[in-house]
Amino acid sequence: MFVGHYSVAFAAKRDRNQIPLWVLFIAVQFLDYIWATLVLLGIEKLRVIKGFTAGSMLDSYFHPYSHSLLTAFAWSALAAFVYKPLCSWLGYAYTKSAALIVSVALFSHWILDLIAHPRDLAIYDNTWKVGFGLWNYRDPEFALEIALLFGGIILYLARNTMPPLRKVAAIGFGVGLTIIQIGDTYVPREALTDKAIAMGVWIFYTLFVVAAFFLEKIGRRRQINAS
Ligand SMILES: [Zn+2]
Repeated sequence: MFVGHYSVAFAAKRDRNQIPLWVLFIAVQFLDYIWATLVLLGIEKLRVIKGFTAGSMLDSYFHPYSHSLLTAFAWSALAAFVYKPLCSWLGYAYTKSAALIVSVALFSHWILDLIAHPRDLAIYDNTWKVGFGLWNYRDPEFALEIALLFGGIILYLARNTMPPLRKVAAIGFGVGLTIIQIGDTYVPREALTDKAIAMGVWIFYTLFVVAAFFLEKIGRRRQINAS
């Protein structure tokens, strides 16, 4: 699962909970940030094999710290505990149940990965591996990613008040993510090294976080002036 993860970030954002969209963008991909970091450090292991599944070249045969069910729970619990202190540190408003929402958004990563991944997600440590393997079916997997993404964006547009320009930008963001997903799913390319994949994850995911940050800046001053 790739851009489909962002559906949860868009869907979780409400004016009421005041969680910045960029925070949710980090939360829904947090397990992959841990994974990419540990792959770069040589702690978690990845083989990049052309045609490993129809929709992905990644054979993540050892990622117990980032992607086991047990550690997914642990990272989600950590998010629940640190979100409130993080808000006061960053000077952001904290609303009731926001920590829980961030925590659930983080955990959603494992659930969506469970649908796409072949049997490489451990329940704990590196054993009892599960995965429904939708990546073996390229078109349905792609369709699910895009359907989820735009479902999330529709909820984001419907449940938050924002100027028209930001609505257009949110849809444009969705189109941009779709193009990147098309490239990832359909454009043939040579297998990169495991470290290059991990670097790519860091770079692209962080660019999306920055884009989410600026998306919510659009029309902000005018909104404040108006109210
Ligand atoms: Zn993942």
